[in-house]
Amino acid sequence: MTEELIELTNTLAPDLVPVPVDAEDVCPMCRSWRPAGEPRCNNCVQAFDELTAPCELVIPISLYSKPSEMRDRLTFYKDGDESQQRQYAPEVAAILDRFFVEHGNQLQDRTGGWDVACVVPSESRVPPHPLERALSNLPARYVPERELLLARDVGNVGHRILSDDAYRVKENVVGLTVLVLDDVYTTGGRSQSAASALTLAGAHVAAIVVIARRVNPDWKPEVRAMWDRQAARPFSFSEEPWWV
Ligand SMILES: [Zn+2]
Repeated sequence: MTEELIELTNTLAPDLVPVPVDAEDVCPMCRSWRPAGEPRCNNCVQAFDELTAPCELVIPISLYSKPSEMRDRLTFYKDGDESQQRQYAPEVAAILDRFFVEHGNQLQDRTGGWDVACVVPSESRVPPHPLERALSNLPARYVPERELLLARDVGNVGHRILSDDAYRVKENVVGLTVLVLDDVYTTGGRSQSAASALTLAGAHVAAIVVIARRVNPDWKPEVRAMWDRQAARPFSFSEEPWWV
């Protein structure tokens, strides 16, 4: 790990919110809030209702809410003006890089490893996805061959919209194990639709790794309680993650 990576990511750490361990009010799949007595959050229930093969192992590096510096970073590294993109894109890449340097071996042990990593394509942007570009400056290490396996297809996808045919798998993936990467997980519409498409095409999805899972503390007091609990804790890149 380079000094620069440590220094940059340590500067960003105060903007990150630790992902909760198992608890009654935590969705065991995506680490957001879940209603009392429910097995999963509403988003994950919907993923199982509407997709053939959602991925049960979702690994957010951080939680985020809106408004926040983290939300701006994850929005404007791709949609901002030139100076925002210049500042935020290396920060987004560094967060993912630090995660893999700290926990890549553990993730390989936990999942059995993967053959390729694949970034979920944009709705409308011309490929490559800005996350792909942000990653392309980094050493391969734990994210080998970030092939553009997926393209948008006919199915609808977006906020609370999931479909098996939202993405077309462009290559033969039969027997391949794929790690799905995305920047944010808001309802899981995009990354879970991608995971389902890959699985239906014959791949095994090892996990979905996202930089941040959105939580909306304004939705209900119970969500706020869970958010406040996590936001009160300092974030550390080296802390043992919940999924180990
Ligand atoms: Zn969930």
